[in-house]
Amino acid sequence: MTTNWYPIINYENCIECGACINKCSHGVYDKESAKPMVIYPDGCIDRCTGCQALCPAEAIQYYGDTGGPKTTCSCGC
Ligand code: SF4
Ligand code: SF4
Repeated sequence: MTTNWYPIINYENCIECGACINKCSHGVYDKESAKPMVIYPDGCIDRCTGCQALCPAEAIQYYGDTGGPKTTCSCGC
C-alpha cells in the first residue's frame, strides 16, 4: 500500500463503464458509485496499473507516475 501512487480520473474522458471500479479489489474505488470515485488512495498498490489497463477511454493516470516501470500486484489486479 502506498500514499505515493494512486489513480487520478479524468472525468472529461471517463464514460463511466465501471471497469476500473470492478477491477480493483483493494478498496480504492467506491463500489457503490457508477462514477469512479477514489475513496481509499492508501489502498492502491505501488506502481500497479491494473485499472488503467482496462480503461477504454484513457481516463486514468497515477499520482506519483514519473514514467518508471509499472507492475501489477500479487492479486492480479
Ligand atoms: S492501480 Fe491496481 S491497486 Fe490501484 S486502484 Fe487500480 S487496480 Fe486498484
Ligand atoms: S475504466 Fe475508465 S472509462 Fe471506465 S469508469 Fe473507469 S475511468 Fe471511467
